[in-house]
Amino acid sequence: MSDQNTQPTLLTAWKGAQARLKAAGVDSPSIDARLLLEAATGAGRVDILNDPYRALTAEQAQGLEAMVQRRLRREPVSRILGRKGFWKIMLNVTPDVLSPRPDTETVVDVIVRAFPAYATFDMIDLGTGSGAILLAALAERRGARGVGTDISTEAIAVARENAANLDLNGRCTFIRTDWAAGFADDSFDLVVSNPPYIPTGDIAGLDPEVREHDPHLALDGGPDGLQPYRDLAPEIARILRPEGVFAVEIGWDQGEAVKALFEAAGFADVKVVKDLGDRDRVVTNGPDPRVGPIPDVEGPVQ
Ligand code: GLN
Repeated sequence: MSDQNTQPTLLTAWKGAQARLKAAGVDSPSIDARLLLEAATGAGRVDILNDPYRALTAEQAQGLEAMVQRRLRREPVSRILGRKGFWKIMLNVTPDVLSPRPDTETVVDVIVRAFPAYATFDMIDLGTGSGAILLAALAERRGARGVGTDISTEAIAVARENAANLDLNGRCTFIRTDWAAGFADDSFDLVVSNPPYIPTGDIAGLDPEVREHDPHLALDGGPDGLQPYRDLAPEIARILRPEGVFAVEIGWDQGEAVKALFEAAGFADVKVVKDLGDRDRVVTNGPDPRVGPIPDVEGPVQ
């Protein structure tokens, strides 16, 4: 057999990686194999389609093999690549931050519905992690300014780096503190959070990608998963201005319980909003993004 037959091409490398990931029970083998192949070769997805017989160099093939091995051990793609797309931005991720999830974009859906394209407003993201929600909101709303807090010094460093990479650092600051500790009453027009909400006893049963690679500090919501909301509801009521909007991510079965906690903290018009998978995902006193017209997410040039 000649070398030409054994040398992997973009197409055979993609298909080969895909088959191995699929056999190992990985959830999305086709997308994962493509993302790893793109990272290993520098090829874009259009190259894979337009130039499928392009040969990989030995170095590229080795690089891909190392990444596939890591994925076979159920390390998430975001952690192998060190970055993850969220909304319209790309974020660096490390072992110290929760990998941003598409589900969390539901919080951003509420924000863009609540604040029109050129609205000027002050926001805070409690437990910001990589900075995903805050930075997506600032990227979408140029009149917004914001603060991200986190109890983890390491997470704050990741969020700061992401803000600088996105050129959004002029409109945000990051502070290491416990939720909103240290912030004055009535300080913000918008408060958002994706707190840890997994009941402690459920963590052992999570997918290995989550259980072994996301920081437990960002997952563990105490015995019933609701402790962060008991702490957050009165804190959010304290720092939010009158007429302000809050939006917090929740687990799919926590809607009614979390809604009740925010109502007990004095909020009216509290609702549970679904994600694109039709599961309860956000509790807010703002607009339901699944009802009514699609808001302006780009903003007209003025
Ligand atoms: N949605 C995440 C998961 O199910 C949990 C994130 C969180 O606790 N905030 O893995």
